[in-house]
Amino acid sequence: MTIPFIDIHTHISRTSDDIISVQSFHLEELDFKDPIKSFFTSAIHPWHADNFTDKEILEMLDGLLSNNKFIGVGETGLDKVCQVDFDIQKNIFQLQITFAETHQVPLIIHSVRSWNEIMPFLKRSKVPCVLHGYSEGAIITRQLIGLGCYFSVGKSILNPSQRLLEAIRMIPLTSLFLETDEAKTPIEDIYDQMSKTLDLPLDFLKYQIYKNFTSLFSLPSEI
Ligand SMILES: [Zn+2]
Repeated sequence: MTIPFIDIHTHISRTSDDIISVQSFHLEELDFKDPIKSFFTSAIHPWHADNFTDKEILEMLDGLLSNNKFIGVGETGLDKVCQVDFDIQKNIFQLQITFAETHQVPLIIHSVRSWNEIMPFLKRSKVPCVLHGYSEGAIITRQLIGLGCYFSVGKSILNPSQRLLEAIRMIPLTSLFLETDEAKTPIEDIYDQMSKTLDLPLDFLKYQIYKNFTSLFSLPSEI
């Protein structure tokens, strides 16, 4: 089989024979009138955490369970740059972690200037956490590796700072993912740049990330 590129977190579906896109939807925007063809994750984003009651969120999350393309809860997390009350963000984050734990699906994590506050959540989580849009330096990366986190790097790899390069080289290959998020950059370019950065053949990188994907999300080894 040809190994596809895995775009672990994107808001634009580009699923094709060569690419598996894991699309990320805001939970409140999901309607299942049009069947979702690609794998997807969904959650209340921290930016919208004060718009809903716990009960409303749990009802929306329950609605995901009957869809066989639903593979993870996210993006969810904490964001110090947005205006939403931080305690409300923490409450909704914990609610969604508990849901992911109950149903044994991984979490896709959004963290902006919140690493100190988010660490205890990641430490307690009983399901794997994929840190999306990852671009931190060595000190935080070392702590997160210690917690068993997974790292998804996006377009920051195209123009990396020295500190990001140092961090990327520390990440175990078995914990690495790549993503486009909201960028129009093709996922192929991000793979290409990562293979140069790590000095690994592209085919090897594709194979490794594909393996990471199928094992983390409990998918058959050929999808
Ligand atoms: Zn996103």
